[in-house]
Amino acid sequence: MNYDFSEKEFTLFVDINEKMAGLAANGQLDRKDPAHNKENIKQALKQLAQTPYLKLGLQPVDGYQGQLSWMGAAETLAAVSPSAYLAVEASTRLFGRAVNEWGDSNQKSKWLTPLLEGNLIGALAISEETLNIENDPLTAQGERQGESVAINGAKQYVINAPIADWIAVAGTCDDAYALFLIEKEASGLTVEPAMETLGYDGTPISGIRLEDCRIPNEQVIFPPADIDMAEAIRMWENQILLGAGLGLSKAAYETARDHAKSHRSGGKPIIAYQEVGFKLADMLTLFQTSQLLAYRTAWTAETSPKEAGELLLCAKVFCAESAEQVCSEALKILGGNGYITGNSVERAYRCAKYVQIAGTSTEIGRVKIGDAALGYRN
Ligand SMILES: Cc1cc2nc3c(=O)[nH]c(=O)nc-3n(C[C@H](O)[C@H](O)[C@H](O)COP(=O)(O)OP(=O)(O)OC[C@H]3O[C@@H](n4cnc5c(N)ncnc54)[C@H](O)[C@@H]3O)c2cc1C
Repeated sequence: MNYDFSEKEFTLFVDINEKMAGLAANGQLDRKDPAHNKENIKQALKQLAQTPYLKLGLQPVDGYQGQLSWMGAAETLAAVSPSAYLAVEASTRLFGRAVNEWGDSNQKSKWLTPLLEGNLIGALAISEETLNIENDPLTAQGERQGESVAINGAKQYVINAPIADWIAVAGTCDDAYALFLIEKEASGLTVEPAMETLGYDGTPISGIRLEDCRIPNEQVIFPPADIDMAEAIRMWENQILLGAGLGLSKAAYETARDHAKSHRSGGKPIIAYQEVGFKLADMLTLFQTSQLLAYRTAWTAETSPKEAGELLLCAKVFCAESAEQVCSEALKILGGNGYITGNSVERAYRCAKYVQIAGTSTEIGRVKIGDAALGYRN
């Protein structure tokens, strides 16, 4: 096992930090701002397209270690701007990854090329309306009608739906899993108004409806028959959420540490109070353990993907729960400052709740890990 990053990788992390810090200044990538959210995410994608970031984990890039390099870079981006990170990842490593893994060469040049150049925003809709795909089947359905497919269904909670140029909708067609690639202006597609959410304010989210939405056959992707598409997409979501959790923990820990050194109370910096030091120690322990687990998961995904599933679930549960704890403790260290809306720690705390419930939730993760221990799953 080797989770060491090279000079080149560290340089990339610094580059991402520098490129995004200007865009994210004053929290402007992380606030609800329907008039500018799309433009903000486009600019973030354009900046990232000047680095190898968007390609990592999708295509080999000379001198980088695929998923492992991506995890380090993801942590960096998610710490600078949680909202930009989630929007970029839903576009790149959900929509883009689906096209990359299962699309043919025409489909790749139509969607993947502009996406990796930062010229296309994608979304991937899988969660059914009122259904959780961990428990229930996909119900969005496509019916072939000659040269086209008519799709009916409804999805809720689709990241990027209000700003996406293209949405990949997961469903079935001809009794097989299928992804329907739908342009934002397609007739029969309704994108609902953006939802108000607890966190990730700069990541637009909404439901979509498909009512006899017709697309040409070339806009349907069929994953290979031996692939469980829903399970694969869940795995990708969980990988993205590991990066999200690391970034939130890193930002919250570093802000609390710096505040504890500089903020004085009772005539001394608050870090002089042992209880504050203990909190920082516990936070750093959780963050570093999360980091090791996430890096190991990424390294395993590269070196022996068949063994990665159970480890990924353990990492998802641990990183998500740790991120919430680290952010919660950081809020306490910031005292009154932490409770006032608009600082990076209260923002991270709100976002951390999402990391627990999204993808495979902590509860379902534990059930699955337990099932694997009992030999019910491999
Ligand atoms: C802001 C936001 C953005 C999202 N973005 C996307 C997106 O871009 N694309 C997408 O496809 N989806 C997205 N989702 C959906 C998300 O990933 C979850 O799949 C969905 O929220 C879970 O379904 P539910 O809300 O109906 O929860 P429920 O299934 O009703 O779960 C409620 C509670 O019951 C527990 N529970 C449920 N089933 C079990 C079980 N079998 N064992 C143990 N406990 C269980 C859960 O852990 C949870 O605590 C998003 C969700 C949100 C809130």
